Amino acid sequence: MQDAMANRPHGLMFHHFHGTGFAPSQGSIDADTFERILAHYAQSHRVLDADEYLQRALSGDLGPRDVCITFDDSLLCQYDVALPVLERHGLHAFWFIYSGVIAGRIEPLEVYRRYRSEYFDDIDGFYAEFFKALARSPHADTAATALCDFVPRHYLAEFPFYTENDRRFRYLRDIVLSSSGYDDVMTLMMDASGTSAAELAEGLWIGAEQLRMLHQAGHVIGLHSHTHPTMLAALPADLQLREYTDNQQILANILGATPNTMSHPCNSYDDVTLDGLRSLGIELGFRSNMSPAPPSALEHPREDHANIVKRLGLCPTSPAVTSARVLPGSTERRLGSIC
Ligand SMILES: [Zn+2]
Repeated sequence: MQDAMANRPHGLMFHHFHGTGFAPSQGSIDADTFERILAHYAQSHRVLDADEYLQRALSGDLGPRDVCITFDDSLLCQYDVALPVLERHGLHAFWFIYSGVIAGRIEPLEVYRRYRSEYFDDIDGFYAEFFKALARSPHADTAATALCDFVPRHYLAEFPFYTENDRRFRYLRDIVLSSSGYDDVMTLMMDASGTSAAELAEGLWIGAEQLRMLHQAGHVIGLHSHTHPTMLAALPADLQLREYTDNQQILANILGATPNTMSHPCNSYDDVTLDGLRSLGIELGFRSNMSPAPPSALEHPREDHANIVKRLGLCPTSPAVTSARVLPGSTERRLGSIC
C-alpha cells in the first residue's frame, strides 16, 4: 500500500485544519500534522511550488515523484493554520476557490459542519437532537411514514462501518427530506441552540483581501465553481459553464489576473465540463482522488489528506461527526474524510 499510486505527478489535497480560533472537526488536522506530512513528502518526493508544478505541467516536464500542495473550498482555517507552515518552508500552494461565499452566499454544508463540531460532543448527541427536531418539524409525518418499513442494516449496506443511527440519518437526509426539508430541520436545531447560519458563517471563508495577498505572495489561485454543486456533471451544459464563468470573472476582478487552473468540486465532471473549462482557457485541472484517469491536463490526480494521515499513522481529529449531504458513490472529499 505504501504510496502505491504515487509514481506519477499529483497534488496533495487538503481541506479542514484546526488550531487557534478553529475547533477540531471531522478529519481536520493541525499545523503539526501538516508539518509532518510535508516532511514525509520532502523525503520521498519532490514538493514543488504551485507555479513550478503548473509550468512543468504545461511543458510536459513533470517527474513521477513531483507533487504540489492544494487547498480546496476557500476555507479561512487553511489561511490561518496552514499558510504559516508553508511560509516557514518557503512553499507556494494552489488555492481552489469557490466564489459564491466571497460574493456573500452562505454555503450550508460548511455551516452545518461547524455547528456539529462546536455544539455537540459526538455524533450521537447530534443525531438525538436531529431526530427530536425532525419530530417537531413540518416534515414529521413524512419521516414517520418513511421509517415504518426502514431496515437500517439494508441501507448503505456497502459501508459496514456505519452505525444504525448513521444509516437512519442518511436515509432521512438524502432520500426522505428534500434539500429544503433538511435545511428546515437544521434551522430548527440552530434556533434551539441560540445560533443561526449567518452567525456560524462568520470567519469560515477566505475573503478577497486575503486572496489578493496570496496571489501577490506567489501562490496560485484557481477555480472551484461558483456555488460548489455536489453533482456538477448532472447540470445542463449552460449551467456548468456558468458555474465556472462566474467563478473566473469574480476571481479575475479580485486578483487582476485571470486564473487558468482549477479543481473539480466533489470530483464531479464530464466531457461537457472539460470542454467548457478549455473554452475558458483553463490549462491545468485536478481530480479529487488517485483513481486512474485519462492522461488529461484537466484531470491530474490528487491524494486526500485523510488517506495520507492514515497511511502515515498520524491521528486526525475524529469526533465521528459526519459532514456532508453527499450520496453514496460520490468521491467527495467530505465522505472520504470519514474514518
Ligand atoms: Zn470542494
